[in-house]
Amino acid sequence: MNKNDSDVIQEILIEENYLPAERIEESDIVLVNTCSVRNHAEQRALGYISTLKKWREKKGKALGVVGCMAKRLAGEIISKYPFVDFILGPDSYRKIPRYLGSIIQGQTKIIDTEVGNELYTGICRKSKKVSDFVSITRGCNNFCSYCIVPFVRGGLRSRPVEDILKEVNELVSSGVKDITLLGQNVNEYHYQGVDFPKLLEIVARETGIFRLRFLTSHPKDFDEEIIRVIKENKNICEWFHLPLQSGSDRILRLMNRKYSKADYLIKIEKIKKNIPDATITTDIIVGFPTETEDEFNETIELIKSIEFDDAYMYRYSYRPGTKAGEYPSLPEDVIKERLKILIEIQSQIIKKKTEQMIGRTYEVLFEEKAENGTRGKTRGNKDVIVTQKLRIGSVYKVLITGVRGRTPIGEIV
Ligand code: SAH
Ligand code: SF4
Repeated sequence: MNKNDSDVIQEILIEENYLPAERIEESDIVLVNTCSVRNHAEQRALGYISTLKKWREKKGKALGVVGCMAKRLAGEIISKYPFVDFILGPDSYRKIPRYLGSIIQGQTKIIDTEVGNELYTGICRKSKKVSDFVSITRGCNNFCSYCIVPFVRGGLRSRPVEDILKEVNELVSSGVKDITLLGQNVNEYHYQGVDFPKLLEIVARETGIFRLRFLTSHPKDFDEEIIRVIKENKNICEWFHLPLQSGSDRILRLMNRKYSKADYLIKIEKIKKNIPDATITTDIIVGFPTETEDEFNETIELIKSIEFDDAYMYRYSYRPGTKAGEYPSLPEDVIKERLKILIEIQSQIIKKKTEQMIGRTYEVLFEEKAENGTRGKTRGNKDVIVTQKLRIGSVYKVLITGVRGRTPIGEIV
């Protein structure tokens, strides 16, 4: 979402004749786009902003901090980093050219962090990439108790169907082959009677996109209609990212996730039964406040039984202002240890799953040069490397012959 926002900002600036700089030393304006989802991301952004002080002291420079952390910590940033010129939340990017105009005329300390309505309708990005993202919703209404997103990005709103189609069509005609439809919970998309399965079907059928995916599905809303649409449209990839978060019903309730372990398992079974080759990935949070050893072990047992193809695993991060922020946190060393155990177990599962790919053939879309070869992706979003130097954007059937590190390697067949 954050990368996609940076692309939106770039498009807004390019339309106003600003040019992208290759390196900081060559640039007159730097915008730092920030994420608030975990404390670690914020600390890294703040650390990076401090390194820009020297650059900002040169003549004719302007420094902006934008995005979710800018929205959350505007006051703190302006007082601790007085060399920052402007601070904008995630809904204020259309105004960047206007604010830059004011800064050129000598104004500094502009703060604009209102959020709630912006969809960036009409801004259709151009792209030189093989795979790209298209945002279909902004914001979120779910208020999972640990999550800062609804506070910093505002409530859910859905982008008009025509606007999504226009952007996908433009990306397709500029050579993009793999598009991920993006939303905090794509399943809540709703625009003038078009729900998410319908939108997915329209984009798959009316745009000529080679591969279509979506991210993220909230397990509470994921339903069989999506499985049907995927089965009936060959260009929709059979990759499901369904963040589980925890394997304990009590923790899921405290997280305000609105599904139980049993509900989740039923959905996974439906996917596996209907699409045996499906790739299923997830997000897990360990060390949520009050999580007991037994409850953590329930998560471990569940990930062992489901065998996710991949997982983003996080230690719980306290986010001020959220409901979970009011609960007593677990000691840091307990949280760290649980994350270590989880990562170890999930790594073994990934290793096993990757080894199972050996001897099988996959359709691979090649996306970038790799050391001694070319790197591509399967429909299931798995990286694959071949030793040949292939054209970026080409598609081949690849027989997997081995594993290098965590990445399957193969030969074109
Ligand atoms: N909208 C998506 C996720 C957005 S944030 C969804 O509902 O799945 C991406 C992931 O970051 C979440 O799935 C969660 O696992 C993690 N995350 C969010 N807030 C967190 C917090 N306070 N501490 C640790 N992980 C968090
Ligand atoms: Fe955060 Fe939950 Fe919304 Fe995802 S669905 S963005 S985790 S509040």
